Amino acid sequence: MMELKKALALENFAQTVYRKCDCCKRVRDIYFRLNIRDAKSTSMLVGSLELCKDCGYNMGDITNANVSTEKVLEEFNFE
Ligand SMILES: [Zn+2]
Repeated sequence: MMELKKALALENFAQTVYRKCDCCKRVRDIYFRLNIRDAKSTSMLVGSLELCKDCGYNMGDITNANVSTEKVLEEFNFE
């Protein structure tokens, strides 16, 4: 059985870029890239979509992936 998270893999951009979201077509900050792989092998890259925050989270919900736009700041917890 195909693993959805492997076939549709979300990646975070290190820095957001301001351009058109490939899903909702609005020009906004782009947070994610969705890598789309061949469904049979889930190893070969077919293409990718650049997604805004809302669409990235939505795609995370669809693929049941753990999506976050938060940088890991908890490690630097000054008390
Ligand atoms: Zn969008």
